[in-house]
Amino acid sequence: MNGTTRELYDWGREAARAHPELDVIDLSLGNPDLEPNPAVCSALRSLAADDTPGRHRYMDNAGYEDVRETVARHLSESSGVPIGTDSVYLTCGAAGALRIVMSALLDPGDEIIVFAPYFPEYLGFIRSAGGTPKVVRAGERFQLDLVAFETALTPRTRAVIVNDPNNPTGVRYPASTWVRLASMLAAYRERTGRLVHVIADEAGCGLTYDGRCSASVLAACAAAWLVRSCSKDASLAGERIGYLAWRAAHSSPRMLALLRTTARSLGFANAPALMQRLLPYVLAHPLDATEYRRRSERFIGILTAGGVDVVHPEAGFLAFPRSPIADDRRFCRLLAGRGVLCVPGSAFGAPGYFRASLTQPLGRIEEAAARITRCAQRVFEARTA
Ligand code: PLP
Repeated sequence: MNGTTRELYDWGREAARAHPELDVIDLSLGNPDLEPNPAVCSALRSLAADDTPGRHRYMDNAGYEDVRETVARHLSESSGVPIGTDSVYLTCGAAGALRIVMSALLDPGDEIIVFAPYFPEYLGFIRSAGGTPKVVRAGERFQLDLVAFETALTPRTRAVIVNDPNNPTGVRYPASTWVRLASMLAAYRERTGRLVHVIADEAGCGLTYDGRCSASVLAACAAAWLVRSCSKDASLAGERIGYLAWRAAHSSPRMLALLRTTARSLGFANAPALMQRLLPYVLAHPLDATEYRRRSERFIGILTAGGVDVVHPEAGFLAFPRSPIADDRRFCRLLAGRGVLCVPGSAFGAPGYFRASLTQPLGRIEEAAARITRCAQRVFEARTA
């Protein structure tokens, strides 16, 4: 949760207590509200009941070998790229994976390119790993602007983060984007001798509306680091389990050892043992994201009918409409006065928009969309008066 989201969340809880008449609908926090797949819950109960001695001890920092093997097989099958067990590292969520790979790759002062709108935590992760974030604005309808990306490359560029599906917009990128990115980076390496890594944050790729989640970035980009998580994909955000995977041919054979040392020095040591054991069940029993899609279509439909511009998300529970006034923070304050909490786009490096997290039942989402539309219409009327 970034600073702005946290402030709104706290404000919302306080306002709901102090002003029940506002009937606050909190769309600020991206906290998945669907329950995990029942098969996953039942596996968790059985795993917790297993009292075989030794199941609560330390293990290899990278995680249980048999679980890493299952993840490697899953990724090899879905991406078409052979991934070995020693190219999988189990982590405390996507955040843990992002943080350790950044520390492992960066030297002080190295730059990581980030496309805006971005997941705000990236900036903190990069800085705490000793690096400098360099922000490039996304292009038309939030697709990646690879021309702007190329001009942002410098001798200090060590990596680029791509986030598919994107938080906050919910958009996805076609496989052709990764092919173009890969050939651009290969040509850049040829010209300059410099290797730029691709950190592919796919937290949320299990919630795509068309069910596609193929890790095509791994297939296209040789130096890709794939980050996945069960937080949103399996509605297990509080349980802290995710993983990092890469193509062995393009990393040092010492990478696994380096990641282990990094994870220990950051204090994570290893991902929670019980959740590691649960991971194969999560892979075998995906969450049904139909409800998120239903909410999204309803929300977007009401906003669009009310004249509010919004790009259709292709996954998850986030929407990122254009603010009817340029000052997105002011618009979010107006919305808060009507009992709807959204996060200003400025918090994601994209002023002029706002993010709504559709983690409320459908009826509440419809009510929130109606309030947003009424608020926007007031603003439109004031502008034309
Ligand atoms: N990356 C993105 C794009 C996210 O949206 C989130 C969580 O909201 C994370 C990473 C962190 O996920 P986790 O809870 O698995 O650490």
